[in-house]
Amino acid sequence: MNKPLVVITGASSGIGGAAAIKFSQEGYPLLLLARRLDRLEALKLPDTLCRQLDVTDLAGFKAALEEAEDKYGPTDCLINNAGILRVGKMDTQDPQEWQQMFNTNVLGLLNGIHLVLAGMRHRKSGTVVNIGSVAGRKNYSDFTGYCGTKFAVHAISEGIREEVAEDNVRVVTIAPGIVETEIFNHSTHTETFQDFKGTIQEIGGGLSPADTAEAIWYAYRQPQSICIREIVLAPTRQQ
Ligand code: NDP
Repeated sequence: MNKPLVVITGASSGIGGAAAIKFSQEGYPLLLLARRLDRLEALKLPDTLCRQLDVTDLAGFKAALEEAEDKYGPTDCLINNAGILRVGKMDTQDPQEWQQMFNTNVLGLLNGIHLVLAGMRHRKSGTVVNIGSVAGRKNYSDFTGYCGTKFAVHAISEGIREEVAEDNVRVVTIAPGIVETEIFNHSTHTETFQDFKGTIQEIGGGLSPADTAEAIWYAYRQPQSICIREIVLAPTRQQ
């Protein structure tokens, strides 16, 4: 039997890219979304539609989903992974950075949930996987804005899980600690990141994107009657 459609946002690098490879190896057709289309296409995965998307664009998100569903059938799993990290002190950080983080990490995630949920409720089946963070459970100095977005992801996940549980739809939060990805390369606050890179070395390195993809896969591959509500995974030596 053909496997159902899995949609992954932010699949052009890091955790999203690793999840795309894992789910493709398991035989799922994919819709991969990110702003860097060339990076999605470079994965060269079979049965995969790659579309350029900024997750804050609700209309574009809807159009890409409709195109993929016409081709592969209804979305059975949405992995809300797209996210950005900007750090700094509240009094000096550029306020636009908080706005970009909340737009992408929170509102972009809500866009995806909004678009797939009605179909999942109707079919009485489906899974939404939201990528939270250890930074959505405890705060870190200089990461306040980012932590705010990830605390929001955890709250939203749990709220929506309760909303759709009676319709047999699962909502899963995956909360990784440090994963070695490009996310740390995009900060304008280089000082914090020099310290942070030192910390990663001291603890013997972060998780790999593939480690995190395995956790997503573990949650998804359970029978629909079992909802793994949250997985927190981190390097053992991370505080
Ligand atoms: P990467 O920077 O490697 O990946 C982030 C992905 O998000 C990229 O594919 C990027 O693609 C995409 N993205 C960013 N903004 C947008 C947007 N507006 N619209 C669509 N796609 C977007 O980082 P990670 O793999 O580390 O991050 C993935 C998720 O994991 C994030 O939500 C992050 O917060 C979370 N996380 C990461 C941890 C870590 O230590 N690395 C720890 C805990 C959670 P493009 O630029 O092409 O649009």
